[in-house]
Amino acid sequence: MYDDDDDEWNNELDEREIEYDNELCPDCKSEIEFKIQIHRGFSDWEHLICPVCEHDFGERRVDEGYESRIIKRGTKQE
Ligand SMILES: [Zn+2]
Repeated sequence: MYDDDDDEWNNELDEREIEYDNELCPDCKSEIEFKIQIHRGFSDWEHLICPVCEHDFGERRVDEGYESRIIKRGTKQE
């Protein structure tokens, strides 16, 4: 008897992707790396937020959350 459970499991893993997006914040001049989790078949959108000054980079395709990492910290210009 053919059992394709393993194949299905592998396919599910293949549908998850990590995308990296580097942004330069226009408000505080910080360089931010966003690590975005994409899951094909899902289509959720979230606002990417600058972790330094909370500038809103706008909505992006983010299916399963994202992490942000500060590559170079700037300071907000008042
Ligand atoms: Zn910022």
